[in-house]
Amino acid sequence: MPELPEVETICQDLRTCGLIGEPIRGIVVTWEKTITPLSAEEFSGRLVGRAIARIDRRAKYIHFTLDDGQNLLVHLRMTGAFSIRESRCAMDSHDRVAFIYADRELVFHDTRKFGRMTLCTNTCGIFGRLGPEPFDPTLDAEVFHQKLMSHRRMLKPLLLDQGFIAGLGNIYVDESLFAARLHPCAHADELTPAQASNLLMAIRLVLRESIENRGTSLGEGDGNFHSDGRYGSNATRLKVFQRTGSTCPRCSAIIERRVVGQRATHLCPRCQVLS
Ligand SMILES: [Zn+2]
Repeated sequence: MPELPEVETICQDLRTCGLIGEPIRGIVVTWEKTITPLSAEEFSGRLVGRAIARIDRRAKYIHFTLDDGQNLLVHLRMTGAFSIRESRCAMDSHDRVAFIYADRELVFHDTRKFGRMTLCTNTCGIFGRLGPEPFDPTLDAEVFHQKLMSHRRMLKPLLLDQGFIAGLGNIYVDESLFAARLHPCAHADELTPAQASNLLMAIRLVLRESIENRGTSLGEGDGNFHSDGRYGSNATRLKVFQRTGSTCPRCSAIIERRVVGQRATHLCPRCQVLS
């Protein structure tokens, strides 16, 4: 599932493809659940004639701001992906929504059909539930430590909770905890200020590196992350995620896989000790 670096990569690519300011001429919806609760007719009626004015990322959402102030929030979930095609190309069987422009189309392709588009006049209903962005400058080490102190939960499920901090998923939580030398089962309220500061720095470092590498592409076929036809190269930089049985790049111990909070979790048993 795309996490913050992958969604950021898609937003960067979409911003540079020249669609901003171009009027949408038509909409094709072949799977209405993608745009629920609106019907294809309502969705089309509110978008045709409008143009995308801005493209931003919030957590794992792509946020299109339309020129009339409406917001289109897209969550890719498992396999959602955007591509730009020449006009009048035949729709692929896994294409769910197409935005028709004068000379091309922005197509939302989604094999597993879990991706969702929400058209709203106000983002508060969805964004109001999200925690801070990891790069939010007001989220300093002290604020982060205070936030951790107020939760008696294990670090792994807490960092995955989008209401605690936004944008992290299984890959970057495992990588951040390894970088900070913290055990996934450690309790948040037991971290020292120094450990909290290290964890925040580790999260930012891990995310920044992945954004520079255009995200992590794992697996094969449609589920493998790509943007603008290009795969991310960050998979080769992962230290623990899906490296079970390999050696730790820091201490040479064998990387282990465990289930924590019902999620597969990867760690170095020597670097990440539960105190
Ligand atoms: Zn190690």
